[in-house]
Amino acid sequence: KGVERALALSRGFGGSATKYYAVWVAMKRRSAHNLSLLALQIGTCMELDVKTTPMMAQWEECKGRARDAVLLFRMGDFYEAFYDDASLLSRELGLTLTSRQGIPMAGVPYQSGEGYIDKLVAKGFKVAIAEQMEMPSSGKKLVRREVVRIVTPGTVTNESALCEKSNNFVAAIGQLGEMLGLAFLDMSTGQFGVSEFEREDTLRAELFRLRPKELLLSDRLAAKHGELLRALALSFSPMVSSKEEWFFDHRSAYERLAQHLRVHSLDGYGLKGMGAAVKAAGALIGYLSGELRLNLDHVMELVPYAASDFLILDEISQRNLELTDPISGSDTSATLLRIMDRTKTPMGGRLMRSWIKQPLLSVEKIRERQVAIGALLGAPLVVMQLFEALNGMRDLERLIMRISSGQASPRDVKALEGSLALLPQLNGLLRQVAAPKLEQLRGEIEDLSAVVALIGATLAAEPPTKVSEGGVIREGFSPELDELRGLARSGKAWIANYQAKVQAETGIKTLRIGYNRVFGYYLECSKGQAASVPPHFERRQTLATAERFISPELREFESRVLTAEERLSALEMELFSALLRLTSESCRSVLITARALGEIDCLLALADLARDRSYVCPKVDASDTLVIEEGRHPVVEAINKATPFIPNDTALNSDEMRLFLITGPNMAGKSTYIRQVALIVIMAQVGSFVPARRAHIGVVDRIFTRIGASDDLHRGQSTFMVEMTETANILRNATARSLVILDEIGRGTSTYDGLSIAWAVAEHLLTSSARPKSLFATHYLELTQLEGKVQGAINYNVAVSESEGEITFLHKIVRGSADRSYGVHVARLAGLPAAVVARATEILSHLEANKPPPLHIPKRSPRVAKVKTDPAQLSLFN
Ligand code: ATP
Repeated sequence: KGVERALALSRGFGGSATKYYAVWVAMKRRSAHNLSLLALQIGTCMELDVKTTPMMAQWEECKGRARDAVLLFRMGDFYEAFYDDASLLSRELGLTLTSRQGIPMAGVPYQSGEGYIDKLVAKGFKVAIAEQMEMPSSGKKLVRREVVRIVTPGTVTNESALCEKSNNFVAAIGQLGEMLGLAFLDMSTGQFGVSEFEREDTLRAELFRLRPKELLLSDRLAAKHGELLRALALSFSPMVSSKEEWFFDHRSAYERLAQHLRVHSLDGYGLKGMGAAVKAAGALIGYLSGELRLNLDHVMELVPYAASDFLILDEISQRNLELTDPISGSDTSATLLRIMDRTKTPMGGRLMRSWIKQPLLSVEKIRERQVAIGALLGAPLVVMQLFEALNGMRDLERLIMRISSGQASPRDVKALEGSLALLPQLNGLLRQVAAPKLEQLRGEIEDLSAVVALIGATLAAEPPTKVSEGGVIREGFSPELDELRGLARSGKAWIANYQAKVQAETGIKTLRIGYNRVFGYYLECSKGQAASVPPHFERRQTLATAERFISPELREFESRVLTAEERLSALEMELFSALLRLTSESCRSVLITARALGEIDCLLALADLARDRSYVCPKVDASDTLVIEEGRHPVVEAINKATPFIPNDTALNSDEMRLFLITGPNMAGKSTYIRQVALIVIMAQVGSFVPARRAHIGVVDRIFTRIGASDDLHRGQSTFMVEMTETANILRNATARSLVILDEIGRGTSTYDGLSIAWAVAEHLLTSSARPKSLFATHYLELTQLEGKVQGAINYNVAVSESEGEITFLHKIVRGSADRSYGVHVARLAGLPAAVVARATEILSHLEANKPPPLHIPKRSPRVAKVKTDPAQLSLFN
C-alpha cells in the first residue's frame, strides 16, 4: 500500500517515490496510521532530503549501474536490499520488511544468497549483486563495494537454477534491410549460434523452438513485432530487454564480435553477408559482457546455420504434435521427447530435445545416423557397456563452463575428473562398433588424461563443496600447505595440553579454552572462580555468569595459529584457483568431447528405442513418396500398454494420392492416425528408426498442423478465428514438399459455413500450385464427393463393426468413406443422461430421413423443450 501511495504521490507532485515511501514507513512506525496525514507532509517531503550517509551514497551509485535490477548489497554476512527492492524481496520471497532510519530494508544471509538469487531470477527478475571489494578494516573507513555481476533469467549458470536436460538461452534479434538476424547463447554450455530469416514466421518458429529465457532487441523492432512478443509472452514469458537502435549498430557489432572471437574478419566464421545476424550477435555480446559484466572467455565458437537446412516445425505444430510439451497441463509423459529420450547424460538429453524440434533435411546426414543406429543394434553387449559408462558421466559442458568462469566448487572439479576418466573406456568400446558417424565422433573425443592427472594430483579424494571449508587440496601436493595444516592440527593438541595445565595450576576444574570471532581465544571460568585466576591473566570479557581471560602464552599461541590458519585458507584458495585456471585451458577440448558424447548418447538412445519397441529403419530419400506400412503411433502405443495398437498404412505422394479425406465415427482413431503419420516423418528425419513394418519417406520441408479447437482469449481471438488464422498460414506457406495435417477444419462455425470452408480448403490444397501432401480428417461426409472429381483426393475411413446396435471401434483405416458418425453412440458411452440420448436418437432418425424433428415437450424438463429452427440458419437437410 505504501509503495502504491508513494508512487502516486511522486507522479502527482513530483519528487522521488522512495522518499515518500520513507516518510510513509517512518509514520507507520510512529503508529500514525492515518495515511491522509501523509498528504500534509507533502510540502515537507518535497524538501526532505533523507540524510544520505556515505553508505547510502554508495548504494545509490551501485543502483545506478542497474536501475532495472533488484540490487543485493553486501553488508558483512548479509545481502541487504533497500527501498522498493526491499519491498519486492519481502513480497516475492516472504522476507520480513524492516526499516532503518526510515529506509525500508530486507536482507538475506550471504551464505544462502545463491538460493535467493535463483528464486528471484526464476520469477523473472534481474538481480544485481554488489560485493565488498576489500576486507573490512578496524578503522571507520567505508568498505568499497561494486556491482560484480548481474544475473538474469537468460544468463544463470547455477546448477540448481537450470534444467539439466534443456538449454537456457539468451537471444537477440537484429535487422538489416529486410533480413532478420537471430543470435542465441547458452551461458551454461557456451553454445552460441546465429541465423537469418527473410520472414517473421520462420523467425517465430525458431524462437518457439529455442524458447529463450531472455530476448534482446531494439525499441523499433519491439514496436514492429509487438504481436510476436505477445505470443512469446503468452507461451513461455521470456524477459524482454529493448535497447536503443544504436546498440545494434552494424559496425560496432561487427568489431565487438570480431574482438570477442579474436579475429580480424568474420568471414572465416561463415558470416559473410550475414549483416543482420552480426548485428544480433554483436549486440548480444555487448549486452552480456558490457552491461551484465559476464565473463565470456569460454564462449569460443559461433555457429551460423540456416533454418532452411532443417524441417520447419512452427509453434502450432510443435504444440499440436506434443513433441516436447503436452498441449495442456504439465505432464510430459505423453510427449514424443519422453518416448525418444533414453539418453544417459545431460548433454545427450539437451541434444535429443534439439534433434526432435529440428529434424534434418539432408538425406546424407539422416543416413549417417541410421547407419550408426544399425551398427549399434548389431552390438547389444557393447551398447550395454557404453550405457553403463555414460551413466557415470556428469554434465561436462556445464562443469567446464563453471570451471572456466571461476564459479566451480571443488566437487565440480572432482566430478569433471571422474567423468573424463571414463573416456578411454568409452573410446575402447566405440572402437568395437563400425559406423562412419561413430568413428567420426570417436575421433572428436580428445585425450584429456593430462587434465585427469592434474586434478587427481591436486584435489583431495573427497573435497568439500566450498573451498572455505578447507581440506580441498590433496596432502603432499604443496609442502607449505602441509606444514600449515600440521601447525593448525597441532594447535588443537596444544590447547588441550594448555587447558589441562592451567586447570591443574589454578585448581579450577571447569576452566576451559574457547574462541570467538570478536575476542579471539580466551580462558573462561565462572564468576565465583575468577578470584583463583593468576593476576597476570588479563580480563578480556565479562558475561552474566562467567569471566573470560587471556594469558601471555595463549596470546602468543593465538598469533601463531591464527596466522597459520589465515595463510592456510589463503593458500588453499590460491591453489584451487590455479587448478581452475589450468583446467580451463582444456575448455575447448572438453567442449568438443562433450558434444561428441552428447551425440553418441543420442544415437545409443535411438538404438535402444528401436530395439525395445521393434522399430524399423525407414528408407529416406529425396523422392516424392510417403509410404508407411503398418505404422503405429509412437506415444499412444507406448502409453496404452493394456490395449494392443492397431497398425495402419499410408501411401501419399504429390500426384494422384495427394490428399486423404479421412472420415469415420468419433473415437475411431482419426486424430491418432494423422498425428502418427506426422510423428513418423519427424522421427525418420531425426535419423531414428520408426514404429512401422516398412517406411519410405521422401524428406518433408515443413509440417503444418491444424488440430482441434483452441481458444486464444488472451490474444482476443475466438476459437474460430484461431482456426482460420492457422489455416490461412498453411494455405499461404505450404510447398510441394510439405506435409499438412488438418483435423476437423470448419468445426467452429455454423454447419454450412464450416462445410463450405472445409470444402474450399480441401480443393485449394488439391489444386493450388503448391500441392502439398495432406491428411484431412473430417466429419463432413459431403467432402468425400471430391474423390473422383478432383485429382489427388482419396477417401479413407476408420472401420467399425456394428452388431445389435453396439459398435466396436476397429481403429483400422480402410478405403472409402464412412456413412455415419455414431456421435450419439459415443455420447451414450460418455454418460449423457439416457433421456437425452434417446431424444438425440429420435431427432437424428428424423434428420437422416430428411424430415424435421418432431416437437416434443417433456413433462418434467421444460428447458429441453423445443428444437427451434433458426430461420437465419439454413438447415443442412431441407
Ligand atoms: P473424434 O472424431 O471424436 O475426434 P477420433 O476419430 O479422432 O475421434 P482418436 O481421438 O484418434 O479418435 O482416438 C480415440 C481413441 O482410440 C484414442 O484414445 C486412442 O487411444 C484409441 N486409438 C486410436 N487409434 C488407435 C489404434 N490404431 N489402435 C488402438 N487404439 C487406437
